[in-house]
Amino acid sequence: MRIGFGYDIHRLVPGRKLMLGGFQVPSEYGEDGHSDGDTLIHALVDALLGGLALGDIGSFFPPSDPLYKNINSAILLKETVRFVKEKRARVANVDSTIILEQPKIGPFREKIRESLAALLEIEPSRVSIKAKTKEGADTTGRGEAVEAYVVVLLED
Ligand code: MG
Repeated sequence: MRIGFGYDIHRLVPGRKLMLGGFQVPSEYGEDGHSDGDTLIHALVDALLGGLALGDIGSFFPPSDPLYKNINSAILLKETVRFVKEKRARVANVDSTIILEQPKIGPFREKIRESLAALLEIEPSRVSIKAKTKEGADTTGRGEAVEAYVVVLLED
């Protein structure tokens, strides 16, 4: 068994899509970033790479590489899943927490879960999506950013 942990944060700006786990959450604000800014996928990719001690998302998919400009992060996750398979590892489960003030994640939780499970090629019962707000406490709490924490358990 190997455990992996990942974290990510992106600023929220008008006129961008709010992508979480490969699902577009309806919102006036979305993640700024070099890629599509899918904060949940980026944290998950870091967790998968971390679990295998393979580095991090920045070393695998350099933001300086024009290839990754505005790239759909689902493609990065699919690539990472391929690395996991190459290492003969299997994802046992994923647990995650999204921190976002608006919109509320609740109504979209199942969609995000199904999307992530499909990208990971595992059953939705192995994927957990939790949501929190920061109640105005800091930058994220003021609605200026979205954060995600992810842990994964890998079997190799
Ligand atoms: Mg990121």
